[in-house]
Amino acid sequence: MSTPRQDIVVMKFGGTSVEDSAAMLRTAAIVGGRVRKGLKPIVIVSAMSKVTDTLLAAAAAAGRNAREEALNLSDGLRTRHLNTAAELATGDRLTSLHLNIHHDFDSLDDLLRGISAVGELTPRTSDHVVSFGERLSSQMVAAAFAEQGLHGAHVDARNVILTDNHYGKAAPNERAIENAATSQLLPLVGTGKVPVMGGFIGSCDGITTTLGRGGSDYTGALVGGALHAGAIEIWTDVNGIMTTDPRIVPEALRVKTISFEEAAELAYFGAKVLHPATILPAVQKNIPVWVLNSRNAENEGTKITAAPPPCASPFKSIAAKKKLTIIDIVASRMLLAHGFLKMVFDVFDKYHCAIDMVSTSEISVSVTVDSREALPAISAELSKIADVKMEGNKALICLVGEDIRGQSGISGQVFSAISHVNVRMISQGASEINMSFMVNEEDVEEAIRSLHRKFFSTPDASIFDVEARTVASNA
Ligand code: ADP
Ligand code: ASP
Ligand code: MG
Repeated sequence: MSTPRQDIVVMKFGGTSVEDSAAMLRTAAIVGGRVRKGLKPIVIVSAMSKVTDTLLAAAAAAGRNAREEALNLSDGLRTRHLNTAAELATGDRLTSLHLNIHHDFDSLDDLLRGISAVGELTPRTSDHVVSFGERLSSQMVAAAFAEQGLHGAHVDARNVILTDNHYGKAAPNERAIENAATSQLLPLVGTGKVPVMGGFIGSCDGITTTLGRGGSDYTGALVGGALHAGAIEIWTDVNGIMTTDPRIVPEALRVKTISFEEAAELAYFGAKVLHPATILPAVQKNIPVWVLNSRNAENEGTKITAAPPPCASPFKSIAAKKKLTIIDIVASRMLLAHGFLKMVFDVFDKYHCAIDMVSTSEISVSVTVDSREALPAISAELSKIADVKMEGNKALICLVGEDIRGQSGISGQVFSAISHVNVRMISQGASEINMSFMVNEEDVEEAIRSLHRKFFSTPDASIFDVEARTVASNA
């Protein structure tokens, strides 16, 4: 295994951390702080907040021939980027930034006109359109750094993050990324520069790809893994990984430290704070990952590591995933033979449809999935071998904690806390660090609030930031 480069820190800043000129300046100050400590940052940025959604809306509009709507959306973005640039840079730097922004938006508009002329949006073209968000934000942040006296060097992420051609959710080629990162980023770092690149985007044989929504976290981890960095920092708009989404429970507490497995489980089961694949490259090389707040940089955040200290509370956090469908599949009489489950899972496999939860009996299987596009085709195929029933608008709630292991009676406590909610399909994961179950979508918030009250009223102060609760209640 390669030796760690302890002084390299990969710092990923999410959409809200680059949402406007003030946020970009805060980002520059945070990175400057790391440089002054003698660290060598490599910076990964998301598109400015909401830009990805707007680009996708523009692409969709163009795809249905609504050319003017698409171009208007693009115009709005052009103005926002030009105005932000004008607040960040001056003189020649501003002139060249404005030229680049116009150049990118001119290409984007050509692309949108082309899409609306043919009236068809392919995943490949959609990736091309959406890539402009990170391409623009990374140029602007690099300019902001230079303006603040940091030696920012813009790097086109598409030359570093090399992927397959699965447009919309491309898989990275880690070996190729390691070579590219070594040859392109290390020389910059070696001469005291701070590379700045867009997250989320990559390329396959020179054609732009993306890693899937929320994929900038993944870029951060891929670069950190490739260079065997000393740490990966995910800078966002909350103090760290919290005991649940603070939008649902405002008094949620920061988790000070959590294991790779717990964080991966939380991310997979819906905690938006981290992209599910982010943890993988870090685990492979045992690189600590920090989740930190760019609006409150002094806060110590959450440390994700291989071996956090034991926790007296059974759970670390509660996640939820909405917009799921439960599919009940009951074998037709003549197919009760063995091999039924294999046939069922082969159908999901064929449509690349990931299954979140499964429960089986001898003749039936229930699964939950979140892909909606493939459902009609899957249903048609399954109907050949089984009776199929689908129920939409479901949500999965997942409680995660390594210390569930060996705790007897814990499921009784969970279900008595939410005895007023209708629960379906319960599973205690094979990994033994999660307990999950399905509820109706409209019950999710209430169920989470009840569970949070039950399990986090007297939390273990060595693992959870209890002081923050005391400070808030004295304020
Ligand atoms: P970024 O743009 O920085 O990538 P995201 O919006 O993707 O940020 O993720 C941060 C958001 O994740 C938070 O604002 C919060 O609402 C949400 N979130 C969901 N679950 C959690 C959790 N357990 N801990 C912290 N944040 C969470
Ligand atoms: N900008 C992309 C998105 O909104 C990627 C990211 O922010 O992580 O999904
Ligand atoms: Mg995110």
